[in-house]
Amino acid sequence: FPEKEKAAPVAKIKVVVRKRPLNKKEISKKEEDIIDIEQCSNSMTVHETKLKVDLTEYVEKHEFVFDAVLDEDVSNDEVYRETVEPVVPAIFNRTKATCFAYGQTGIYLVFYTVYWATCELQPTLTVQPVRVGCTYFCSSWGTCVYSIPKNIKFCAALSGSGKTYTMRPLPLKASQDILRLMHHTYRNQGYQLFMSFFEIYGGKLFDLLNERNKLCMREDGKQKVCIVGLQEYRVSDVETIKELIEKGSATRSTGTTGANEESSRSHAILQLAIKRRVDGNDAKPARLAGKLSFIDLAGSERGADTTDNDKQTRIEGAEINKSLLVLKECIRALDNDQTHIPFRGSKLTEVLRDSFIGDSRTVMISCISPSSGSCEHTLNTLRYADRVK
Ligand code: ADP
Ligand code: MG
Repeated sequence: FPEKEKAAPVAKIKVVVRKRPLNKKEISKKEEDIIDIEQCSNSMTVHETKLKVDLTEYVEKHEFVFDAVLDEDVSNDEVYRETVEPVVPAIFNRTKATCFAYGQTGIYLVFYTVYWATCELQPTLTVQPVRVGCTYFCSSWGTCVYSIPKNIKFCAALSGSGKTYTMRPLPLKASQDILRLMHHTYRNQGYQLFMSFFEIYGGKLFDLLNERNKLCMREDGKQKVCIVGLQEYRVSDVETIKELIEKGSATRSTGTTGANEESSRSHAILQLAIKRRVDGNDAKPARLAGKLSFIDLAGSERGADTTDNDKQTRIEGAEINKSLLVLKECIRALDNDQTHIPFRGSKLTEVLRDSFIGDSRTVMISCISPSSGSCEHTLNTLRYADRVK
């Protein structure tokens, strides 16, 4: 392996917040942007509207500071430069880097009034519900709190915080840089690039590049994780990588039921592995040099969703909750150089185990919606990010 660069020590963990713009739906509902971003000082403020006992409103400010805060006008290219680009050279030097996207997927309830005379359904209003037991309470634009009358029907719609939007372009940009380094800086040094893409859904592993085949995980004697049956593609051009990413993403979002919503319940893991044939001997297997993993995490609000009546959703919610909790514990343990890292607490961390030991880097991108209706989820996301930091 090449000599390590004598660069200034790089922080092992970087926490970045990205705010997305208000979407059409939020604007049409007259939702307000409650997030102020101060990019130059890496700080941000959330303006939370609360109700007093007499139902008058007041605003509570919450301030946070992160390694970087990115405003709604920041492009995906800039997000790449801020998050993944700095770690790319290190993966030629035995480093394993992992980039997570975290945040709410968002559930909105669309209310319909049923007009019995015409049997027509008319959308009435869309609100972010607060669930207490089996009852949804809605605070419509913060003015009054009421429970839903029985004669009104509703169905759920989703409005995400931008995890997939943020995560999807990153592996492509990273592989462009990796290939460039392979062809120039590390020319003729036997480096090869491999890609795999799988998901964790309900605690089980599925190959997104191979017909969603079920995979199992094994540990070898040296505490190395091995995912049995996972297809690893050797890639040498950007076009192929792009096709594989599109194929895997399509497989993920249609999942088992064909519903788009499925993607919010799974963790998608795309890995770029750099291997090297040290002596140019093709008969010998290439050795792993470094790895870059991209994790599009399940919607963070799913974790809290454990009061669901549906048993399957409840189990998934509990699993997601556990994996996000354990992930946070693992990242913190790593940052404190603790010897015991609680990998075994969840499938996600078990799978990522080898990316956490040795020379590792973690980038957490917390995605947030700016809208007043998402305030509670946004604060939860930021508090999670704050504890990881
Ligand atoms: P999540 O994966 O968190 O559920 P998505 O990435 O699917 O959320 O984003 C939800 C919607 O918002 C998508 O239509 C997406 O195109 C849009 N969106 C998200 N982030 C941004 C952004 N930074 N700029 C513009 N549109 C965005
Ligand atoms: Mg998504």
